[in-house]
Amino acid sequence: MTNQDTIFGKIIRKEIPADIVYEDDLALAFRDVQPQAPVHILVIPKKTIPKLSDAETEDSALLGHLLLTVKKVAELVGLDQGYRVVINTGVDGGQSVYHLHLHILGGRQLNWPPG
Ligand code: 5GP
Repeated sequence: MTNQDTIFGKIIRKEIPADIVYEDDLALAFRDVQPQAPVHILVIPKKTIPKLSDAETEDSALLGHLLLTVKKVAELVGLDQGYRVVINTGVDGGQSVYHLHLHILGGRQLNWPPG
């Protein structure tokens, strides 16, 4: 365990259970434990990046992979009417887990603007 470890690190290492919907060498997708929409899935990199503002130029391909993973997961779970992708970043962004994650929200008409 590193000092940057989070609950998502434990999910990556399968130390705690999660409802995993997709996994590959670079990314993991699992259902949010407190869903805010009928479909609420988190896509995370296996690499520890605490928040989007910590990403570096060397992470460019990984960040692209995460977005394409969002697309793949949305197709897998049948979000054919659309969905929203959210990255809460830092204190003002309302981030609560400091391991970069992309929320996929869908399955109902979502409101705009968010709170
Ligand atoms: P944030 O607020 O950082 O953008 O989002 C963190 C998300 O992680 C929240 O939506 C929260 O419900 C979810 N979450 C926190 N702990 C766990 C957990 O142990 N398992 C799962 N599946 N989701 C979690």
